[in-house]
Amino acid sequence: MYIGRFAPSPSGPLHFGSLIAALGSYFQAKANQGQWLVRIEDIDPPREMPGASELILRTLEAYQLEWDGEVVYQSQRHHLYQQQIDAWISSGQAYYCQCTRKAIKESGGYYLGTCRDKQLSNDTPSATRLRMTQPVYEFIDQKHGRLTIPHPLAEEDFIIKRRDGLFAYNLAVVLDDIDQGVTEVVRGADLIEPTGRQISLYKMLGQSPIHYLHLPLALDENGQKLSKQNHAPAIDNSNPKPALLEAMHFLGFQLDPHIEQGNLDEIIAWGVENWQICQLPNTTEITPRFSNRPR
Ligand code: GLU
Repeated sequence: MYIGRFAPSPSGPLHFGSLIAALGSYFQAKANQGQWLVRIEDIDPPREMPGASELILRTLEAYQLEWDGEVVYQSQRHHLYQQQIDAWISSGQAYYCQCTRKAIKESGGYYLGTCRDKQLSNDTPSATRLRMTQPVYEFIDQKHGRLTIPHPLAEEDFIIKRRDGLFAYNLAVVLDDIDQGVTEVVRGADLIEPTGRQISLYKMLGQSPIHYLHLPLALDENGQKLSKQNHAPAIDNSNPKPALLEAMHFLGFQLDPHIEQGNLDEIIAWGVENWQICQLPNTTEITPRFSNRPR
């Protein structure tokens, strides 16, 4: 059984870039007769906008993207993340680190394992790092084929819990994807880089690998990635069709005029039926927002 997911961070309302990730993961799941789960990644309160989770869910509903099962919130799963960290601390697989970002930058930008054998305690606030015993230097993306990860990055003992007590994205995402039985991750190409670390976590946890598909990123007029941090405008909930059609063009669909004139549910059903990975633009880089739009 195919299980896919959409995992937005509630740092703001859904914008065109996150609609691409939502739609791409939805079409891929439904074209494979699979489930499409929604997980709200609310593990970084300082970067969150009050009310954004609710807003995101209402937007998915407005676009008739129906999720399967209950919405999962990472903020309710801290105990699971902490349990895994505790297990790794007691087995020696994880350790506390007090190096500053500045010190790491000065030693070349990659963390070289300075605190690995220091047996530091957590009495003074420390980051928790994982001993990288399963570095991953490449992986297969369902669209782009073999993608490589620079060696120092793949080999770094990365942070699984930050000094300020927040759990790291890589840890939470992998524990949740495993727990929810996700078989394929479909998301924006901005997350190609952390994929190696996530596969390393799968290996360390003795889990079988899953599939990955990275979608092209949308750029704004200034060549910036559309993101909540860049204040990308929210997509329209009251009139979803224009953004839906634009997002489908961006994902490489060739829509006939009679499809474009259909209802939302007809357009989505047509999308599920016609979705193919090979229709996606080839770039793993950023793609101008309107590049696929017929002129
Ligand atoms: N929460 C992440 C984001 O909104 C996406 C996580 C993922 O798909 O792995 O950028």
